[in-house]
Amino acid sequence: MLRVVVMLGAPGAGKGTQAVRLSLALSIQHVSTGDLFREHLKRGTPLGSKAKQYMEEGHLVPDDLVVDMLFDRVKRPDCSEGYLLDGYPRTLHQAEVLEERLVSKIPMQVLELEVSDESIVERAAGRLLCDGCGHIQHEKYSPPEVAGICDACGGTLLKREDDRPGVVRNRLAVYHDQTQPLSDYYRQRDMLCVVDGSNAPDEVYEACLACLEEVG
Ligand code: AMP
Repeated sequence: MLRVVVMLGAPGAGKGTQAVRLSLALSIQHVSTGDLFREHLKRGTPLGSKAKQYMEEGHLVPDDLVVDMLFDRVKRPDCSEGYLLDGYPRTLHQAEVLEERLVSKIPMQVLELEVSDESIVERAAGRLLCDGCGHIQHEKYSPPEVAGICDACGGTLLKREDDRPGVVRNRLAVYHDQTQPLSDYYRQRDMLCVVDGSNAPDEVYEACLACLEEVG
């Protein structure tokens, strides 16, 4: 079924982990703006250099750069059956652009993962990201079978620079200030389903699926 799913939630709430499973279950493409920016950084593109400092400090990359990058990505053929957005929108302006371009044409649902700030800081401190395939693990909650090696592809697991506690607190402040108002925005449009993200990943996944089935 052609559809767009948006995942909202603080940085480290588990959007990435859930997004991978949900997009597979729904047979739609997972599109993470954070991953797209990290790819640009790795490849040293002009967009990567523009985004670098914002990302390192835990600030949002300016809207115009994000919007162009995202809509370039979703017009590719692998998104023709729909897509799941992980990390977009993060500002009211980004949500309005998405609405203008989409909502009248493609059904859209929004899932919000709710997790307390204290858990976010703890989760981020132990988060491990595979340099090769983007798989996410955690030192305490999903430790790799071999230290430092990705269980999924054998690549190298690294800590994200912006997961250091100081930067995470910045990212949380930015989240509360700029992104959280989107919950109300989508609630008013009757598109929002809130899931308790503090539960175990399997439970969160089931709750997300239930939400999507309810409205889908
Ligand atoms: P994420 O992996 O989603 O936590 O994103 C990592 C970083 O990329 C964020 O802290 C921002 O600097 C940048 N970024 C990702 N998505 C967006 C967005 N929609 N708007 C602005 N900045 C973004």
